[in-house]
Amino acid sequence: SPATPRRPIQCLPDLLISQIAAGEVVERPSAALKELLENALDAGATSLNIQLEGGGVDLIRVIDNGGGIARDELALALTRHATSKIASLDDLERVGTLGFRGEALASIAAVAELVITSRRADAAHAWCLRADVASGEPEPAAHAIGTRIEVRDLYRNTPARRKFLKSEATEYAHCVDAVRRIALAYPEVAFTVSHNGRAGLHLPAGDATTRAASLLGDDFIDASHTVDVAAGGLRLRGRVGLPTLARTRADAQYCYVNGRFVRDKLLAHALREAYRDQLHGSRQPAYCVFIDIDPTEVDVNVHPAKTEVRFRDARAVHQFVFHAVQRALAATPSAMLAARTS
Ligand code: ADP
Ligand code: MG
Repeated sequence: SPATPRRPIQCLPDLLISQIAAGEVVERPSAALKELLENALDAGATSLNIQLEGGGVDLIRVIDNGGGIARDELALALTRHATSKIASLDDLERVGTLGFRGEALASIAAVAELVITSRRADAAHAWCLRADVASGEPEPAAHAIGTRIEVRDLYRNTPARRKFLKSEATEYAHCVDAVRRIALAYPEVAFTVSHNGRAGLHLPAGDATTRAASLLGDDFIDASHTVDVAAGGLRLRGRVGLPTLARTRADAQYCYVNGRFVRDKLLAHALREAYRDQLHGSRQPAYCVFIDIDPTEVDVNVHPAKTEVRFRDARAVHQFVFHAVQRALAATPSAMLAARTS
């Protein structure tokens, strides 16, 4: 077939650039929700209210009680590559916030209707900005201190994408997964979720054990070892499930690096190896582990979705995790110790 005639090279319009980026950052409603939750946590929120409709396709509303956005920064918040979180390569290399790329809100606004309402503590009232208002002029609004972001009609202007979305129930389940992953790492933050006006998850602020029990079940708490080991600038804490908790699917494996849920082959491998003597065949262990590491020792800028990391000294991390988990698994489960002493 004849090749399409070559066009001259030209710079793409901003909106199209954001729509392209949205393909990676906002793969589905739960991915947009994850970005909104990260923003709220980066803003210091201690309470997050999440309201979803139609699996998150029709509406994602996140209300937080964080620091808010100043009137004059609302338009910037929606601008691609604009962020309050880093300003230099040095900042990037030691980034401690969940976000830093300055593209989530711009990407979401490129594929949905987005409205921000926000109020800082020093403002007399809130300000509201609709992403589709060309003037970029915020309007006065009523709102408590903090931020409310509403995302409606995801992928309304990109039907090819919309076609790939699954059923409402499936998309909602992905949204709940996104909340669960973040909520496990932030037990001191309260979360509530509703779907189509009906109450879903309700997680009051509490400690790590209570949070893990509400999200992973009491059986996980009863049949797991607690771990808390530090060495060589690394720390691993959390819980590793006993072999009796193992299942056929790897759906109870939560692994975090500096508070960020990650999917990492190296860490998954280290954990798998640590279970090797206890688990046979293709049985999948259940665990929830948090790895803390000096931010300069890990690169989180690997993929736009920020769920992949690269360790500077991968071998050292692997060995540390392997030994910490292997030793924890060899110990007597804390629940059994408690039963013995009581
Ligand atoms: P990033 O999080 O990478 O900086 P985003 O596009 O997600 O990029 O957000 C852009 C900016 O908008 C953030 O840097 C932050 O200053 C501001 N922002 C977004 N959401 C909130 C929020 N819920 N509370 C306070 N500020 C926010
Ligand atoms: Mg962000």
